[in-house]
Amino acid sequence: YGPAGAALVLAAQRHPDRVAIVDERGPLTFAELDRHCSALANALISKGFRSGDTIGVLCRNHRGIVEVLGATAKLGARVLLLNTDFSGPQLADVCERESVALLIADEEFRAVLATTQPRLGHVLAWVDEPTGGRALPPGRIDSVDGLIATSSSAPPDRPQRKQQIVLLTSGTTGTPKGAPRELGSSLVIPGGLLSRIPLRAARTVLIAAPVFHAWGLLSTMIAASLGNTLILRRRFDPAQALDDLAEHRCDTLVTVPILLSRILAQRSALVGEGDLSALRIIAVSGSALSPELARRTREVFGDVLYNLYGSTEVAYAAIATPADLRAAPGCVGKAPIGTTIRLLDEHGRSVARGQTGRIFVGNLIQFGGYTGGGTKEQQSGLMATGDVGHFDEDGRLFVDGRDDDMIVSGGENVFPAEIEDLLTAHPGLAEAAVLGVPDPDFGHRLRAYVVRADRASSSPDAEAVQDYVRQNLARFKVPRDVIFIEAMPRNPAGKIVKRELPEP
Ligand code: ATP
Repeated sequence: YGPAGAALVLAAQRHPDRVAIVDERGPLTFAELDRHCSALANALISKGFRSGDTIGVLCRNHRGIVEVLGATAKLGARVLLLNTDFSGPQLADVCERESVALLIADEEFRAVLATTQPRLGHVLAWVDEPTGGRALPPGRIDSVDGLIATSSSAPPDRPQRKQQIVLLTSGTTGTPKGAPRELGSSLVIPGGLLSRIPLRAARTVLIAAPVFHAWGLLSTMIAASLGNTLILRRRFDPAQALDDLAEHRCDTLVTVPILLSRILAQRSALVGEGDLSALRIIAVSGSALSPELARRTREVFGDVLYNLYGSTEVAYAAIATPADLRAAPGCVGKAPIGTTIRLLDEHGRSVARGQTGRIFVGNLIQFGGYTGGGTKEQQSGLMATGDVGHFDEDGRLFVDGRDDDMIVSGGENVFPAEIEDLLTAHPGLAEAAVLGVPDPDFGHRLRAYVVRADRASSSPDAEAVQDYVRQNLARFKVPRDVIFIEAMPRNPAGKIVKRELPEP
């Protein structure tokens, strides 16, 4: 079945009566979930869809996206996980490029899709539209719920092909790229992850990261295969997240740094409310975890934080445990079992310990190139992540920034992440992004965009921010411009999209 199917079928066999998913519609057991996946697969087969067809899914976090993942595994289809932040034309472009035969979407995206559906000409099914026996317009098949309710839930015949999952990169550096996965080998994925994160079976996990991204998908599938109950919410709300953690006695929280910082802010506002004593693991990935956020998390939740460094292409490459984060704040830890990390210079030679090099990763998760063409650079069987980093004396990896993020200012190399980490540690600042802008004298000069912790205040001012950097870092790292903004432009993975920062 491929990993998504395998995870769900395995859990249905071992934990049929455990609750698989809690969402806005209530609980669903693993046995029910498995029957829904079979019924949806049967319905799709009866509508003429076949193994190898591409089915796009545009869903927020709820049972529907997991049902589509399970059903496409049972059908042996290609499933394309679409980003819920895409505009209509972006969706149309990606669906066209990937030859989507059927698009399954939440009804809330009706307006976004209305303009582009004629251009695509594919069939469309809403996940949760109650049809109530109404006739459907041409080009539409019944809603997913309708299909599940009216089809046999007997497991369909084994598919001719394995499911292929096409993940899209976040588009932090440009147009999102399609990263297809056979994932035949990916039952090795949980092995490596479990070697550094002590996930347990039959607990409850809050997935506060989009399931359509690599991190949300990976954690959802691993947690489900262990028979964990997944809590899925359509929209992230820090108060709801804290309620869920307490009410469902969650063992694990899966999230991204920016959402973790919102949960922390909410928790500090309601000191002591809600019993979170069951929470053993907070796992974050997808963007840099600042030392300051790691420290605040420890203060509020104890030693429970794990930081995964990974990407759509490599899944994960390094994992920092609470002990790593205590000893070396800001690190991404060590390679788990089955993964090799090497830091290479521009000639492909390993750099000395402590020196910065380009990060190359090798693991059993095969990545064969993007659907639209192109791939990541390879060196002796290892793949470039597109980032640069260094190892400390204990062999812990630090990600210094993206390859092409390095700013050469006045002949000095500057990585924005170091300055961003410092700025976010300032009590008066909540968020920061640093970039290089062309400068006739320096080549590039540094510009910092910052969001004040108290948006109503006028302090700190630009001069205070510059003084603060001057006191803590080398002179050439002091931003020449400091620009105050209300909020950072972020993509759904929680990453700051620097190209969308306003020109002053
Ligand atoms: P695109 O490739 O479309 O520009 P993207 O690189 O953001 O988008 P992803 O695969 O979602 O696409 O993100 C992977 C990148 O995110 C990594 O290469 C790294 O730069 C960053 N990243 C992920 N996890 C961490 C982490 N724990 N610490 C630091 N950086 C991280």
